[in-house]
Amino acid sequence: MLELRDLVKHYRTAGEETVRAVDGVSMSVSQGEMVALYGPSGSGKTTLLLMVAALLAPTSGKVLVNGRDVSSLSEREASHFRLREMGFVRQSFDLLPGVSAIDNAVLKLLKETPWKEAHRRVQPLLERLGLAERLTHRAETLSMGERQRVMIARALSTEPKLLLADEPTGSLDTQRGREVLELLTELCRERGVAIVLVSHDPQAAGYADRVLALRDGRLVDYEPDQGFGSAPERLAVRTRPTTGFAGGAGSAGAR
Ligand code: ADP
Ligand code: MG
Repeated sequence: MLELRDLVKHYRTAGEETVRAVDGVSMSVSQGEMVALYGPSGSGKTTLLLMVAALLAPTSGKVLVNGRDVSSLSEREASHFRLREMGFVRQSFDLLPGVSAIDNAVLKLLKETPWKEAHRRVQPLLERLGLAERLTHRAETLSMGERQRVMIARALSTEPKLLLADEPTGSLDTQRGREVLELLTELCRERGVAIVLVSHDPQAAGYADRVLALRDGRLVDYEPDQGFGSAPERLAVRTRPTTGFAGGAGSAGAR
């Protein structure tokens, strides 16, 4: 469903220097699959996700979602794509202060759904995420883990088939991080949502069907021994960086 072909993003900085943030990445993700992209800070993870979300134009290469090149979309088509087909949990929490958890969670859905209907659809999602007692609490009174779960509810509210998550455990302690990862993977499995999760948290890799490693904008061999020993047994960890479709439930070769 998602395919990156030799994707490159070079940033020009003020001087003559070029930052090779993403430097030739090819990978694919099948329907319902969860891929963790593990890499240290500065390895190009956010840049890569911004290109997949059609928020940043690649220097070269392609991002194909269901066979369609997202960088060839018009502004209008791109925003429609982000609204309907994709959920993006960004690295920063863009919750509105002074506004309740549920009103923050419906923001995306409200773009094309009446208020009442949007609330009716988002509430079960928030309850599922353990926020039943927090629906009417204002954003700034929520814990980091609760805020992250509101962001997840917002991203999933429009029932996308592709979810991008940028460091979803970045500001959480180990226990809260684990809870968020568990909920995220469970919800996406149930709904057949493909996830690309980028993180420098080794814990995140343990929840993925497949783990890829990014260094200096390039995919490199993933070394499960380097702090990745805790992957749950039920999950197969694969180490080939560039090839496509992992088998497994729900993938059925669909793109
Ligand atoms: P990560 O998310 O893995 O921390 P980023 O994609 O944010 O990595 O950044 C990759 C590299 O690109 C870093 O060296 C960063 O400083 C640089 N970079 C990111 N955004 C810009 C930008 N807008 N202009 C110039 N350089 C950038
Ligand atoms: Mg980042």
